[in-house]
Amino acid sequence: MSCLFCRIVVGEIPAAKVYEDDELLAFKDIHPKAPLHLLIIPKEHIESMAALEDRHAPLMGRMMVLAQRLAAENGSPEGFRTVVNTGRVGRQEVYHLHMHLLGGPEPLGSSASF
Ligand code: 5GP
Ligand code: ZN
Repeated sequence: MSCLFCRIVVGEIPAAKVYEDDELLAFKDIHPKAPLHLLIIPKEHIESMAALEDRHAPLMGRMMVLAQRLAAENGSPEGFRTVVNTGRVGRQEVYHLHMHLLGGPEPLGSSASF
């Protein structure tokens, strides 16, 4: 299995997990750009938002709902930023769909931009 995030899903590569259910996994980004920097991923291998199908709509909705909950529970109660990079133009580096969740106690600086 060559996909980095699929390997994290099955435990082949360690990650600092903060949430897991049947469909979704959230873990800390290895190079955090903010006091809180999590990656929320579907366990299903979906390359990017460009590969989404109609059947993925509920899954994407659950990722958004989980984002606000994890922000509140992990030190970012007054707001946060979500980013999904897609494809070459979007400067996506890891081709397993992921949502960046960035936050912290204070307003984010420019280093938390993508
Ligand atoms: P992208 O540019 O594809 O939107 O973001 C990929 C993110 O994955 C980057 O923020 C990068 O720091 C993170 N990342 C890359 N490899 C690993 C890893 O092995 N473990 C974790 N936890 N994060 C990773
Ligand atoms: Zn994958």
